Amino acid sequence: MQILINPLRIYFLKKVGKYFLHMNFFDKFKFCPSCGSSKFVKNNDKSKRCENCGFIYYINPFAATASFLQNSDGELLVCRRANEPAKGTLDLPGGFADLGETIEECAIREIEEEIGVRPKNLRFIFSLPNEYLYSGLTVPTMDMFFEGIIENTNAIKPDDDVEECFFIPVRELNPKLFGLKSVRQAVRIFIDKSEIKEKKKYFA
Ligand SMILES: [Zn+2]
Repeated sequence: MQILINPLRIYFLKKVGKYFLHMNFFDKFKFCPSCGSSKFVKNNDKSKRCENCGFIYYINPFAATASFLQNSDGELLVCRRANEPAKGTLDLPGGFADLGETIEECAIREIEEEIGVRPKNLRFIFSLPNEYLYSGLTVPTMDMFFEGIIENTNAIKPDDDVEECFFIPVRELNPKLFGLKSVRQAVRIFIDKSEIKEKKKYFA
């Protein structure tokens, strides 16, 4: 895989990722999930420990996907979110991995659920740590980004979670219009990568 990401941006994202681990996810878990004791205390930045039974609970991110899908003209498919969080802002098709599926299966399933078509040549490109507000709980996530192609664009049928979806030229993308933090960061990275690809094509 070709890495074309600004090193300063990577440094910033790592810092942000560590910060997420300290957020309210820790505080919401008051009782030991193994024995139910309330003597469930902070062990370190990554875990809580039960003083009653000794169980240590490590907080790991939930796996999620989002996909950059382009049509034959190289335009990017973007969706408008119909629901909170970030209702009304732009987004990429994606969602959380189900138990027992691979992350590739998750990416394809979420695309089919949200826009009603199956992507071609879908491949993993990079990942970003994030947080997602779900029913009042801020959960840490590991968002995995894919890119692929949509051939039968006429068959696109947005799901209830999607207010509308449309294709936009990459050079007209505005990351600020994307409501979820990691998606916004990912769109910036995708634009950087696309510009580098364009330059390479031009100078080849
Ligand atoms: Zn316990």
